[in-house]
Amino acid sequence: MWYIFDLCPKCKDKLVERIVDDISECEEICCPYCGSKMDTVFYGDKKYETAVYKITLNQVEDIKDKYLGVVMRMGNFNEKEALEKLNEKDSISFEGDLLNTFINLELLDEMWDISDYIITPPFPYIRTFIQKCPDCGEKAVYRIEKVNKNEYKRGFFCEKCGEYVWYDILDGAEIDETIYHLKISLRMAGEKVRQEIMGAVNQLHDKDIFKDEIAVRDLAKNIKYLLRIVKTYNIEYEINPPYPHKIYMPKKEWAQEDIEQLMAANPGLVLNLEEINALN
Ligand SMILES: [Zn+2]
Ligand SMILES: [Zn+2]
Repeated sequence: MWYIFDLCPKCKDKLVERIVDDISECEEICCPYCGSKMDTVFYGDKKYETAVYKITLNQVEDIKDKYLGVVMRMGNFNEKEALEKLNEKDSISFEGDLLNTFINLELLDEMWDISDYIITPPFPYIRTFIQKCPDCGEKAVYRIEKVNKNEYKRGFFCEKCGEYVWYDILDGAEIDETIYHLKISLRMAGEKVRQEIMGAVNQLHDKDIFKDEIAVRDLAKNIKYLLRIVKTYNIEYEINPPYPHKIYMPKKEWAQEDIEQLMAANPGLVLNLEEINALN
């Protein structure tokens, strides 16, 4: 159970507290004053309490140079007042209730290189990340979709503009939630290979290590590296269910045939087998 807090991005004047079981599945609500969709701005396991929070920033010289405008907005100051405050001491403080402090923390994000500050008492909630579309200002939604056999596109999508605000391309293994049971036989493995395998196995939590056998249970993304080692050295292994993702193997040794093909495809290119393998 969570306490979540919504705020209208236009009015920004009142927090609406709700209790939900699942944060990712709670419904959106609209502002009772202007009808805009409200943003869930933070959440936590504590009920709202009346308190005064104090944000204290220390790097006043840097702030004076670069972020005078932000300080004016944080304190509702005009330029003269803001400069006076900044010249007064070697720190500047802002006091306010929960909503005020939240709004000031958002402004503080604009001063991305100012990290020397404290909040007392500490801000008691986790702020959510809200991605707005830079073109139309609508809230972008988290989206993940398959682009080909092995890859997914993941990012924030603006439904109004029909475009991603940003995205990255992920390997299917990164989002696979299946737990794979992997058994590796070490009977034929030499000392160096055993050490390399153990180095990877030690990073995993759910494992059984026997004299000549290792059993691990973990997510695709976590066993990917271990699988690559066992495949590289042709170590005997069993995996259940079968691993469906591509395992990127280290570069192979070049053969004369490979470089001949490469030279044929690129007239003028001259390659020497020994030199090219030495580069690898
Ligand atoms: Zn509103
Ligand atoms: Zn948009």
